[in-house]
Amino acid sequence: AHQARINSVVESLTKAPRKVDFPQKNGHVQPISEIFGQNVFSRNEMSKMLPKPVYKTFVQTLKGNHTMDKVTADAIAHAVKVWAIERGATHFTHWFQPLNDCTAEKHDAFLTLKSSFVDGSEVVTAIDTFSGSQLLQSEPDASSFPSGGMRSTFEARGYTVWDTKSPMFIQEGPHGTSILYIPSVFISYNGEALDEKSVLLRSAEVLERLALEVLNIIEPKDAENRTELVYTTLGTEQEYFLIDRSLYTLRPDLKITGRTLLGGLPPRHQQLEDHYFGKIPTRVLSAISECELELAKLGVPIKTRHNEVAPAQFEVAPIFEEALLAVDHNLLTMDVLHRVAHRHKLKVLFHEKPFRGVNGSGKHCNWSLSTDKGDNLLDPSAAPETNYRFLIFLLATLKGVNDHGDLLRAGVASASNDHRLGAHEAPPGIISAFLGSQLTEVLDAIEENRPVNYGAAGLELQHVRVKGTVLDLKVANLPPISRDLTDRNRTSPFAFTGNKFEFRAVGSKQSPSFPVTLLNSAVAKALTEILADLKAEKGDKPVASVEDQLVVIRKYIKLTKDIRYEGDNYSDEWVQEAAKRGLANITKSPDAFLRLLRKGNTDMLKDMGVFSDVELNSRYHILVEKYAKDITIEAQTMITMVIQQVLPAAYQYRRDLAEAASFMKNIGVEASPEIDLLNELTPIVANLQKDITSLKYLMVELIQVQDIVQLADKCCNLVIPKMEIIREYADKLERNVADKLWPLPKYTELFLNI
Ligand code: ADP
Ligand code: MG
Repeated sequence: AHQARINSVVESLTKAPRKVDFPQKNGHVQPISEIFGQNVFSRNEMSKMLPKPVYKTFVQTLKGNHTMDKVTADAIAHAVKVWAIERGATHFTHWFQPLNDCTAEKHDAFLTLKSSFVDGSEVVTAIDTFSGSQLLQSEPDASSFPSGGMRSTFEARGYTVWDTKSPMFIQEGPHGTSILYIPSVFISYNGEALDEKSVLLRSAEVLERLALEVLNIIEPKDAENRTELVYTTLGTEQEYFLIDRSLYTLRPDLKITGRTLLGGLPPRHQQLEDHYFGKIPTRVLSAISECELELAKLGVPIKTRHNEVAPAQFEVAPIFEEALLAVDHNLLTMDVLHRVAHRHKLKVLFHEKPFRGVNGSGKHCNWSLSTDKGDNLLDPSAAPETNYRFLIFLLATLKGVNDHGDLLRAGVASASNDHRLGAHEAPPGIISAFLGSQLTEVLDAIEENRPVNYGAAGLELQHVRVKGTVLDLKVANLPPISRDLTDRNRTSPFAFTGNKFEFRAVGSKQSPSFPVTLLNSAVAKALTEILADLKAEKGDKPVASVEDQLVVIRKYIKLTKDIRYEGDNYSDEWVQEAAKRGLANITKSPDAFLRLLRKGNTDMLKDMGVFSDVELNSRYHILVEKYAKDITIEAQTMITMVIQQVLPAAYQYRRDLAEAASFMKNIGVEASPEIDLLNELTPIVANLQKDITSLKYLMVELIQVQDIVQLADKCCNLVIPKMEIIREYADKLERNVADKLWPLPKYTELFLNI
């Protein structure tokens, strides 16, 4: 009998939640606001610890007005060393984001040996040092990171360079020590991007510069409160699954590939919709609160936690921040969740589709632009129809998505996200944008040159238009509430949600960096076009008048109509409609990756200075290779599981049945029902064995395929369908073989509300 599985199930139900000690003050838990950021070498900390002129120079370098000099770097290095060592730091590390959806670090000790000569003989002293040049750059042996052929071995050098915009922080090391983290970019010897971060920085810079130019042409301000900076904002809603760790250890597929390759749906899963927003299970809540505590210390502003739709699925969301920081913080959130879950004997799954048949996980990227005065450029305000600044930025975003929707699709493609995009709960492979009925009416009215008719849009709101509208609850003792300008459409891959766009197609496992980079670039490109049109309209005048702006707005409403869709994105009707509109419907990753190389996309990315040809090609190859490797690993894992676990369980059961039948026959019972069951199993087992053998041969053949693009296509068109068939048979066996013989924890058990 499969005692391991049964023990784990019992254990998972009886484990007590781990006790977490929150810092106390005056006999109660200390407010999180007082703990927030205590492990961050923040600007505040810097301004306290650095000599005034040094801090001033640093602020100038942040604004791009000054390059970091040796004196400043040395002073900062010294200050951060003192700060970190006071907090138990023994090591420092450049922390960077290579092209593998992970973060990378290599620790160096502060320890240095200094030798001097006393009376003619050498005396060695141990000291802690950290220099400006160690702070600024490091040279990890970078030849083992993916580069898509960009770094040939003779120039396998890579450099990590401190990203001054993201603050340094310490994280717990072993035994009460800590480690100083220096957020960094990772570039090749020739300055090419080898990471997620450098392209994100480039795209943010160009977008922010162009947005500022547009602002200056439509609303010149007196020198006093002129917008000096625009920045991209990002808030990432992270979905994930949490399951019991000992059950997890019995699933090779989860351990190796992050998803279940086998396993059927139990009779009860998500159909009662009783998990979503339900009470968070005690063990999970205990783990999540410890995560939040750790993240608070790291300055990650976690705001929201709740159960998600699928059983054992949850979500965590922060307060939005400048995109560069938000990306670092999302990666830290994933890392902390991973580590803390372990302490609670839980396992976090970030895969987009760990379980077939229930909802997968996404990472909704809420995106907008903000000025240094705190104005959100995508805030429609009370009367969007006369808020031309809002309309221009809204249309720029739509134009970017309209022209480069296929590129955005490429940015979220992966073997794992393929299971989610297009499945019943997630946006399809068609990129479109949802605006809601009010904004749709505003754009339609402007296009048709008529007054806005909210009544016709079913809104009847003309009179109340202060920050949304008031909703009558029809119960006297409830306070009036205001409602948002937009309704909701969960099916849209790219939805306007009140004062920001929400890019929902992004996968839960991937770094938000690449999709946001592509979005930034596409919108930046649209802004160059809008800028040119505004300039043409205004002629010699210092600024574009409202009439000039309206001409441009009307033009872009017309240009972006095709990308707007308010209906059900999951419907077949939309698939047909989208085809009529000429929108790409890309269901498989290898096709999506190719869009990275479409001329319209490469030209745009080069024009915006975000990617070079070499970098784009390398990206393409890295993504294709990763896809092929992911699927190859899945296939190999499936082969092992079927041969070593599924088939032996089936054969054992058949043997049990045969023994029972022969026993019956011995005592004179003819035609025992065991024989019928045995006969029923025979074709399933025979087919499974045949198909697993043919998958094995296929995988051997594929080892010969040198060209990775060809390999990826074969994985997509030959391996995946074969795996589907095998799964059907294996899952049939799961339903028919005696439970006590089944080695793999089943979905019901993995979904247990721990
Ligand atoms: P939901 O989309 O489920 O309603 P919320 O309204 O809580 O979720 O917001 C989702 C995320 O959007 C949060 O992380 C929030 O900080 C972020 N967000 C809100 N405003 C902006 C903005 N202007 N720019 C970027 N992100 C934003
Ligand atoms: Mg949301």
